[in-house]
Amino acid sequence: MDGWRAQAAERLAAYAQAAAETYGAAALPANPAVPAVRFIAGCHPHNAKDYDEAAEAALLARLADPRVAALGEIGLDYHYDFSPRDVQKDVFRRQLRLARECGLPVSLHLREAHDDAYRILCDEGFPPAGTLLHCFNLDKQVLAPFLEAGCFIAFGGPVTFKAADEVREAARLVPLDRLLTETDSPYMTPEPMRGMICGPAHTVFTAACLAEVFGCVSGADREAFLGRLWENAHDLLDRRPTAWQLAHATSVDEARS
Ligand SMILES: [Zn+2]
Repeated sequence: MDGWRAQAAERLAAYAQAAAETYGAAALPANPAVPAVRFIAGCHPHNAKDYDEAAEAALLARLADPRVAALGEIGLDYHYDFSPRDVQKDVFRRQLRLARECGLPVSLHLREAHDDAYRILCDEGFPPAGTLLHCFNLDKQVLAPFLEAGCFIAFGGPVTFKAADEVREAARLVPLDRLLTETDSPYMTPEPMRGMICGPAHTVFTAACLAEVFGCVSGADREAFLGRLWENAHDLLDRRPTAWQLAHATSVDEARS
């Protein structure tokens, strides 16, 4: 992990400098903490029933924070149906429009609802800044239309599960520049650590599994593959503030005060 930490420190220093250049010293708090993480904000489909004008206004104020890297998790969850499906669909559409307005990518939570989600995405248009399918754990048939639409695909622990040949088969089809790992923390701990609470460090096992899936099992191949995963995550999620975020940065200060 030491190499990873050194690289992270380097990136964070670069990010802090970019933020200072963008906003000027006066726009930053007196002692700005270097953001150790980026975050995403959005209304999860479980909570769609609570999404109203006030929630949308609060979400917009959050999205204006330049540390926000994406709008998510948004989508549809027909497994739990914690919100009525019509409401989930409506809130999903509204947030896709926000993503377009804000110039942010979206991270999608889809459960037993891929067909409806795909139809809505086609109807509203896939957000130009990118669409990430989070924690994909299904087969290549489900994945195909999303791949064709240019989506980024993140795999978590399920790709490592012994019985998950169909997930690994699907992973193999993802273009190398659109492949990511993730935790889905605290759930979905990868092999061989199942039973533990999942945390960010566990992604090394998921990444190792994907390297195997792609035949990059050792040496320079493996190093290049893992480096690629790292770059993909940064390209999609560690981006400079969007024009919309820059134009609305003042509302961040209001939201904080
Ligand atoms: Zn989720």
